Amino acid sequence: MHDPDCLFCKIVAGDIPCSKVYEDDEMIAFKDIRPAAPVHLLVVPKRHIPSMAQVTADDAPLLGRMMVKAPELAMANGCNPYPEGGFRIVVNTGAEGGQEVHHLHLHILGGPRPWRNG
Ligand code: 5GP
Ligand code: ZN
Repeated sequence: MHDPDCLFCKIVAGDIPCSKVYEDDEMIAFKDIRPAAPVHLLVVPKRHIPSMAQVTADDAPLLGRMMVKAPELAMANGCNPYPEGGFRIVVNTGAEGGQEVHHLHLHILGGPRPWRNG
């Protein structure tokens, strides 16, 4: 599924450049263009799922693999080891959830404090 008007579908397709840190057949990860922390990555399924509000049981394996990939990407991209270091995983959902790009994505935030939004 691909939405021609979707920013992250265009990044997945390679039509808009990104600072890519990981890709496989079902997900891509790249640096957030406006980082809110020293490490700020986005993990994006290649399939266009608008948000967490639309996920179904069929998406559970994909979401599980994204969550399992997140700590590996966090450590490979500058987050410090648990427990002194660590990272935050955020999934904004809908306007009141702070979602601006309506293609599901995990934010991975980490690195030394302070961060832009605490
Ligand atoms: P949301 O608010 O939807 O959870 O997060 C969207 C994120 O996408 C924001 O943190 C924003 O900085 C990031 N973003 C928006 N446009 C682009 C872009 O063209 N490239 C990259 N790498 N990140 C983007
Ligand atoms: Zn999309």
